[in-house]
Amino acid sequence: MDERGINKLVIVGGGTAGWITAAAFARLLGPGLKIELVESEAIGTVGVGEATIPQIIRLNTILGLDENDFLKHTFGTFKLGIEFVDWGKLGQRYLHTFGDAGLNLGSVHFHHYWRRHAMAGEVPDLWHYSLHQLAASQSRFAHLDRVGNTQMTGLAYAYHFDASLYARYLRSYAEQCGVIRTEGLVQAVERDSESGDIRAIRLDGEREVRGDFFVDCTGFRALLLGQELGIGYRDWSHWLPCNRALAVPSERLPDLPPYTRATARTAGWQWRIPLQHRTGNGHVYCSSFMEDDEAAELLMANLETPALDDPRPIRFTTGRREQFWANNCVAIGLSSGFLEPLESTSIHLIQSNVSRLIELFPRQHVRAADRDEYNRRTIHEFEQIRDFLILHYHQTGREDSEFWKYCRNMEIPEPLARKIDLFEASGRIGRDVDDLFRDASWVQVMLGQGIMPQDYNPMADQLSDAQLGQFMGDLRSVIEKAVARLPLHSDYIAENCQAG
Ligand code: FAD
Repeated sequence: MDERGINKLVIVGGGTAGWITAAAFARLLGPGLKIELVESEAIGTVGVGEATIPQIIRLNTILGLDENDFLKHTFGTFKLGIEFVDWGKLGQRYLHTFGDAGLNLGSVHFHHYWRRHAMAGEVPDLWHYSLHQLAASQSRFAHLDRVGNTQMTGLAYAYHFDASLYARYLRSYAEQCGVIRTEGLVQAVERDSESGDIRAIRLDGEREVRGDFFVDCTGFRALLLGQELGIGYRDWSHWLPCNRALAVPSERLPDLPPYTRATARTAGWQWRIPLQHRTGNGHVYCSSFMEDDEAAELLMANLETPALDDPRPIRFTTGRREQFWANNCVAIGLSSGFLEPLESTSIHLIQSNVSRLIELFPRQHVRAADRDEYNRRTIHEFEQIRDFLILHYHQTGREDSEFWKYCRNMEIPEPLARKIDLFEASGRIGRDVDDLFRDASWVQVMLGQGIMPQDYNPMADQLSDAQLGQFMGDLRSVIEKAVARLPLHSDYIAENCQAG
């Protein structure tokens, strides 16, 4: 067998991205691969990133984490979706849940039956048939795989957690798996004069860390891939114009709603993330349409519980690196690009990039084919998520501010325009097979943002009118019974995973 050429991985940065990378590599490629993580307490982490999507459960399973232990250590809560308030129009709200509404019959999605029913007369909205919606509206949660003895799947969920405690939890896991942590500020990078590959990083105090492969997890700085290797940034601000955020913690919400809330504001939106010990809040806005002082006032005036600190400003530019892997270096996390947190997708991107990198990780030396495949798939993933986010801004009836007028009238990417046209025509979803967001997500956000399909799939005509009426009625009563049996989310946490 040929000698292994890549024996030492160096991860620069110890935020969520650095520690997820370290933990997953240590679990799946250690101890054959030595792993060293360098971070600087003097710089610190971005300190936000507290809402997730269900894919995180896959990461926890790979790492073998115990859910209750994980939630106890991160003051975590459960999340059934995101409530969007005032997005389609003022006064309107909808929940983008992680589950299907109703019940799909064969290959026909439930919303086609619902649309047929609605075309025949006045019926409640789609969320009337959603288990997640009813559970969320009553702040109830428990693990539920299936609804009674029906074919309906139970509650799909993700987590909210404290970002700094999450990084600390993963650090402890990674160190137990043999990852070496080095405290130090990177001051210079040493490169091979012929290939341009990174050979070592130099730290303060004349120290040097050598490696065969480097992961740049240095956050917005993108120290290795951006600054050192000169890989450019593709700016998507014309589609997603928000470029600033103010984050502030406030006291805990008593009933711990099991969902994130995203409330649209005049030039952006405000998040609310319920944790066991506090509430995470933030205002994401566009500086071309709102001054910083006004943004801070708006945030503080709209907190539901007393603030625990002053708002902390964060600046960003939505977009992605032109390449994510160049030479022997891959950027993961904020260094690779930024898609604003509206659908809580950044931690997922870290996780999916780490698993893609592990899948394509070289043994002897970097091969162009592996690198190109990594870049191709990562670009595709960024673009799919970008389009889903644009949908929320563009598909709005709001015209009450210059910001919303801009979003409503801007040109959108062609694949998104095609999806909107298709859904509007016949309720069909033109998603790619590997799209992160499932049909149920597209349906909820399209309907929630005010697109009503003109028609439905003719296969939904296979039920008679009487059968359809019975089906819809039965669904609601099955859902009501299932939700009535669920405990309150706060009680479930107190019983299973209360933080110390
Ligand atoms: P950072 O946390 O910035 O870490 C960078 C690391 O690099 C630090 O350890 C730092 O010390 C180190 N470093 C930098 N330079 C040097 C140097 N010279 N020498 C040594 N070390 C160095 N994501 C979600 O999934 N859900 C959310 O709800 C969500 N909300 C967000 C809200 C906002 C406003 C923003 C901006 C982001 C949000 N995100 C969210 C994204 C999420 O915060 C990040 O994806 C996540 O925290 C990963 O950050 P990171 O590890 O890439 O960078």
